[in-house]
Parts: sequence; structure tokens; C-alpha cells
Amino acid sequence: MAGIYLHIPFCRRRCVYCDFYSTTREGDIPRYAEALAQELMLRRNYLEETDKNGNPYLPEIETVYIGGGTPSLLHPEHTERILEVVRRHYPVSRNAEITVEANPDDVTEAWAQALHGMGVNRISLGVQTFDDDKLRFLCRRHTGHQAMEAVEQCRKAGFDNLSLDLIYGLPGQTVGEWEHDVEHAIAAGVEHLSAYALIYEEGTALWTLRESGRIRETDEEVSLRMFDTLINRLEQAGFEHYEISNFARPGYTSRHNSSYWRGIPYLGCGAAAHSFDGESRQWNTADLDTYLERMDCLARTGKATGLWERETLTKEERYNERIITSVRTRDGLDLHRLKEDFGAEAAAYCLRMAAPHLQQGTLRLLPPAQQIPDGILCLSRQGIFVSDGIMSDLLMTDD
Ligand code: SF4
Repeated sequence: MAGIYLHIPFCRRRCVYCDFYSTTREGDIPRYAEALAQELMLRRNYLEETDKNGNPYLPEIETVYIGGGTPSLLHPEHTERILEVVRRHYPVSRNAEITVEANPDDVTEAWAQALHGMGVNRISLGVQTFDDDKLRFLCRRHTGHQAMEAVEQCRKAGFDNLSLDLIYGLPGQTVGEWEHDVEHAIAAGVEHLSAYALIYEEGTALWTLRESGRIRETDEEVSLRMFDTLINRLEQAGFEHYEISNFARPGYTSRHNSSYWRGIPYLGCGAAAHSFDGESRQWNTADLDTYLERMDCLARTGKATGLWERETLTKEERYNERIITSVRTRDGLDLHRLKEDFGAEAAAYCLRMAAPHLQQGTLRLLPPAQQIPDGILCLSRQGIFVSDGIMSDLLMTDD
């Protein structure tokens, strides 16, 4: 089992809070789509595994995720070309989850129909808020009404798996206004919701606005009330809270994100994309020109250097990664697997570090069962609000 992530680093304009790599040079999209196709063909063996007779084989691709940036800026013919290369060169499972991220104002009936027709079966809409003033402040391109319309167009085209992204703790936002956003999202009738607290990343316009005193960061206490409102309201509406920031109707968890949290290997293609093969991480250059030049050189000469960088994770780093990716999920940390993969000492260390949180009730230890003989460590409802501190306490550090 494996996944493929394809990064589309183009945005029509930059949002105030965003520090992801992306460019506004949409004219380069056709060339980029071809470069991506090249990379997919070239890196076919990245996900290769070996069977018991020592023969290499490619595991089934269970998820394909086209993210960005803004993948909905691609003309459907480019998306189709990329997916065609994926299907031709990789064993994509018949019921694979194929997601495309979209900006609501790019979603037209024709676009949604074209994507549905090429086998995309999940759309993730970057809505952030339904409040038009706040959307303008964030430099988003769409209105709240367009977000609702985008959901409708996707439904009409036949999509039965839609996700919305929301952000809370916007400058000046009240708990009541946030509640209004959550109600809108529920009314939209989507299957999946991701909600993140606004982060002030250094180097963004948002950071500068705060530093110059023109906006004020939302108080932590207000932000926690917003998170509490979100959890309560979505649970009442029938969503399962399956990861700190992610909620899904039963049967609609994001299979792609869940694979990241379960440590399943994935190949990431495109500028700034990351890959993981279970032991090492690899990442592509985050510069569009460098990426395109290197892929051109590869197409012409069959050779290219410095296409990506690689780092092999130490045992300690892999342990830390296991903590961060599993404690955050409803499934929690399987202590038996932890012991098997990292040794009894590492599992004992984890339990020692978890002890104060178990006492305070922010962590829970679910009793051993047949499949999981040492039990499961997971966040309690109270622990979800202080999850960063808990995870950091469980990590192994050099000192
Ligand atoms: S559309 Fe997404 S990737 Fe592009 S600038 Fe806005 S938040 Fe960042």
C-alpha cells in the first residue's frame, strides 16, 4: 500500500497568512504539468518493494492527492494528463481515493464534471471562512456565497465526498462569528471538515501586520473556546473527530492523510514536494525555475543532478515521528507496535513520559486487547486542547 502526492505550486495571488511555496506565474503551468509527468515516470521505482523471493514490485496506490498551491488553476486537460501518467505507470487501486484541492471560485459546472469524468472522487475546498470581510482581509479570491455554490456544482457533477478547510482565530473574530462559520459548513452538507487555528508565520504579510500593531492576535483563551465550539457542534452534527484538526462523517475520513499518520510510504512529485519511503525523507527543490530546468535537462539528456535532497531518519527521529503522527489521531499510539519497532526501552521511556499526563487525565491508556497486547495511548478530550505540549513531552531529545 502506498500513496502519491502531486504538488501544484501556483496561486493567482498570495493569501496574507500563507508561507507555503507557490508562485503566481500561471503561464508556466503547461510546462510544469509536463515536468510533473516526467518526474512520475522517472521515479517509478521509489515506492518499489521486494517480495519474499527477492523480486521487486510496486505496491498498490491507494491514494492520489493533488494539492498546492491551487490545483484548480490547472486546465482539466493538464490534470487529466497527470492522472493518465499515474495510472499508466503505477498500479492504482480500483477504489483509490483521488483528491484534488480547489479554490471555490475556480469551481464551475464544467470543471467539476471534467474532474469527475476523469476519476477524481474527492474535492477539498479551501473555504477558510464564509465571512466576506474576513475573506477580503485574508486576500482570498472567493466569497462565502461562492463557497456554497462550489459545493453545489461538485454535487451536481456527482461528487459524494467533499471536504472543506476552515480557519479560526482570525483577527477580530468573535466566538459567535466562528460559530456562524461552523453552522455554514454543516449546512453545506459536506462529508469532511478540517479546521486550523490561524498561525502567524514569520515572513508573511500577516506577521508584519501584527508586528506593526495593526492587528491583534486572538487570545489563547478565545481560540480554545472556538476549538471547543467546533468539536461540540460537529459531534452533535454527526461528525467523528478522528484527528486533532480533522472531522468526518462515518466512512469519510481522509484516506490520504490517514496514511501519512500511519507511516505508509508515499511519493511526492513537483516543486517543494516531499516523499517518504518508511526510512528516509526526500524533498524536491522548492524553486519553480530550478525544478523546471532540472526536469528539462533530464528529458533532453536522461541525466539530472540535484533533483532532490534526502535524509535518512535515525531511530530516534523515527520514534519521534511515530509519536507525532499517531498520538494526534483517534486511533492513538499502539504501544505493542512501538515496542516491536523501537524496543522495550523506547516503549518504557514513552510510558514514563506519559505518566504525568495519564495522572492529569490529558492522556488515556486503553486496555490491552487481543490485537494490541500493550494497549493504546491516546489523547483525552481535555488532552486535545494541549496536544502540542503532550506530544513534545513524549519525544526523545538529545539532552
Ligand atoms: S491559495 Fe493556498 S497555497 Fe495559495 S497563497 Fe493562499 S493559502 Fe497559500
